[in-house]
Amino acid sequence: MFVPTMKIIIDEDKCIGCMSCTSVSPEVYEMNEKRKAVVRKEVNIDENEDEAEKGAEICPTNAIKIEK
Ligand code: SF4
Repeated sequence: MFVPTMKIIIDEDKCIGCMSCTSVSPEVYEMNEKRKAVVRKEVNIDENEDEAEKGAEICPTNAIKIEK
């Protein structure tokens, strides 16, 4: 089973649904039915580290935290 070494935490309360993260890194992020960003279930985060970080950096409310 795939166990990622990186962890992405998205604070739903901080997410304003601007879709910046999903625009720059659609490989990693998608919007859910509540218009909040979530990490795609099928993504291998470790293989998309740069994309994950791009999304975190562009977030205007710092809702995305990446732990390594
Ligand atoms: S960039 Fe930040 S505020 Fe915008 S959708 Fe993504 S997590 Fe939410």
